[in-house]
Amino acid sequence: MDRLVDACPECDSPEFYGIVGSPVGDAGTDHDYRCRQCGEAFDEPAHREAKADSGGSDMTRRLERMDPDDLGGEA
Ligand SMILES: [Zn+2]
Repeated sequence: MDRLVDACPECDSPEFYGIVGSPVGDAGTDHDYRCRQCGEAFDEPAHREAKADSGGSDMTRRLERMDPDDLGGEA
């Protein structure tokens, strides 16, 4: 369960985009990525463990909410 996700090294947000070679990318930075959340530009995204508490993924939440009644489907 030690899945790593890429994240902004500044604010840990997984919401960032690559600006390498992008025609609409930032001309004012040499970095490869820019964070959507804090605007930080960086060359290498940080790696952190994928956790459900960041709000980035609702998969875990969805599983927890899954009800036995929903799986039965017996009417
Ligand atoms: Zn950030």
